[in-house]
Amino acid sequence: MKTKVNWFNSIFIFLFHVLGSLAVIFYFYKFGVNWYLIILGFVFYILTGISITAGYHRLFSHRAYEASPILEYFYLIFGAAAYQNSALKWCYDHRIHHRYVDGKDDPYNVNRGFFHSHIGWVLFDEPRKEFPQYNRDLLKNKRIVWQDKHYLAISTLTSLGLPTFIGALFGHALGGFLVAGLARITVVHHATFFINSLCHMWGKQTYTDKNTAKDNAILAFFTYGEGFHNFHHLFSKDYRNGIRWFHFDPTKWTIKMTEKLGLARKLTVTPREKIILAKVAMKEKLLSQSNGELCFNFADELESLKQQLSNSIENWQKLKVQYLKALNDFKVEKSWEAKRNLVQLRIKLRMAKKTYMLNYKVWLKQYKYTLKYATPALV
Ligand SMILES: [Zn+2]
Ligand SMILES: [Zn+2]
Repeated sequence: MKTKVNWFNSIFIFLFHVLGSLAVIFYFYKFGVNWYLIILGFVFYILTGISITAGYHRLFSHRAYEASPILEYFYLIFGAAAYQNSALKWCYDHRIHHRYVDGKDDPYNVNRGFFHSHIGWVLFDEPRKEFPQYNRDLLKNKRIVWQDKHYLAISTLTSLGLPTFIGALFGHALGGFLVAGLARITVVHHATFFINSLCHMWGKQTYTDKNTAKDNAILAFFTYGEGFHNFHHLFSKDYRNGIRWFHFDPTKWTIKMTEKLGLARKLTVTPREKIILAKVAMKEKLLSQSNGELCFNFADELESLKQQLSNSIENWQKLKVQYLKALNDFKVEKSWEAKRNLVQLRIKLRMAKKTYMLNYKVWLKQYKYTLKYATPALV
């Protein structure tokens, strides 16, 4: 494969990294550590990074929710300030990454090593197959097309011009340029590049082993919550990456907050039973790959509990279909009979949900017990 240096990207990244870092150290050495500048840098770090994860990634690439034009403009303007290409190009690359993950067409294929998946793919150009179907819908969004057309001007003004201007307001124009501009761009670059590199290298495969994506709570801390990458690769339409309330996912919280403010709507959430079944299937796989001997009759016991779980989920799904139909009937008929039917089904649905959650907990307990006592090779 013929590889050429992308001089434009390489020179910019070199300037941001080396000269930017040296200049910041020199600036603080000469003028002392300035907390206004550090706070300004942190604010820009949050605004531009979240615009990449909540905007470029979960909104534009995956359509995990819908956003008002104001919010789209916000993400397009501050996303450009992260200097990671226009949303149109970023989303195209990212969609190809999901579709051909770990393969030769994956732009940041981790199987080519850490350097390539982290930053090498930005510094070097190689001939790539075109997949026009992956940005057709994006080209219909006039705001995305506008940002792509004026990308260089928007990104330069917002990533370097704006911090310089704000810095100048309190007498530190150069400091604003260096700290909230150059240094912040470098930090945001690496925070988001980690998603393509380390999030495909370190962590657990909780939901699928069909690709290299990993769940890693520590990386989530450095990647605005994108560290739960294994979940994301299987359920990429979900607006969340960290699904539990305690999972550190500031991108998810931002999206939820914008929904409360009336700026976002139709947040996609993966049905809980789908997540449970994926988790169970992965754990079963782990057990079957173990070299340990299953003592007693643990395998049969686990299988029978799994059957109970599957049956209870199926029952809940059937009831849900009936409930939605009853809800529709009630809206049309508005009769007492329809209302009674609806209430009865609502109660049954709640019970069915409780049952499958209980069956899942029992299965999980048995699974842990099996791992602990019956498969010494895994312990
Ligand atoms: Zn990935
Ligand atoms: Zn993605």
